[in-house]
Amino acid sequence: MAESSERAEIDLLIVSLRRHLQRRQRAGIRWLPPDAPREVDPKVDGDGFVLGDREDDFFAEPTVGSGVASLEDLRAAIGDCRRCKLCAGRTNLVFGVGNPRARLMFVGEGPGRDEDLKGEPFVGRAGQLLTDIITKGMGLKREDVYIANVVKCRPPDNRNPEPDEVAACEPFLKKQIDLIRPEIIVGLGKFAVQTLLQSKVPITKLRGHWHRYLGIKLMPTFHPAYLLRNPADKKLVWEDIKQVIKELRGEDA
Ligand code: URA
Repeated sequence: MAESSERAEIDLLIVSLRRHLQRRQRAGIRWLPPDAPREVDPKVDGDGFVLGDREDDFFAEPTVGSGVASLEDLRAAIGDCRRCKLCAGRTNLVFGVGNPRARLMFVGEGPGRDEDLKGEPFVGRAGQLLTDIITKGMGLKREDVYIANVVKCRPPDNRNPEPDEVAACEPFLKKQIDLIRPEIIVGLGKFAVQTLLQSKVPITKLRGHWHRYLGIKLMPTFHPAYLLRNPADKKLVWEDIKQVIKELRGEDA
């Protein structure tokens, strides 16, 4: 009897491990963290991450624990993050900035050099343009909105984040959104928007139309860095932003 229950437990572990490895493979993860695994509580690890809701799935992807009740808790839970290889090249983890009760949130791709050095999103040239859109275009203050990125650490040479990096970091963005519950998200650029919408549709087709991310209205638009290279497209971004302003004011689009 004892033997057969041990056998059943081992079978369960094998099934869970296989599922876990298949999920990692689908996310393009070919890499294991260098740290030795820490001793963890069976349900919640030391960083406050729930290790899987289902009793029979020991290797479920981490979601952020329900004990994380504020942005400060979330930042503390992320800690000195080593969950993906971007940690090796970062100066600062760029968590996000702004009003924790913002009605409007902007989501970019990932920190660049200036952001990595300062630890704040969108503070370089593209960031200045975003700030102009918020302040001069929308008549808001930067502190009124919330600004974050898909990945929190700078990819080397500003390359696009890789699937394993996005998979490691997206639970944090989801939790940020869940804590802030903005009415509207503006997705900045092809990478952020395609990642949020799990879509390969070009940004030229996605922008200017309302979508949903986790039940929240999402307006895709061009990335400010793209606008620095293609200023003629600023008028298209202004069209998108005007739709966002109308929605915030409760006017019919
Ligand atoms: N580009 C982004 O996508 N995010 C930043 O924070 C800065 C530049």
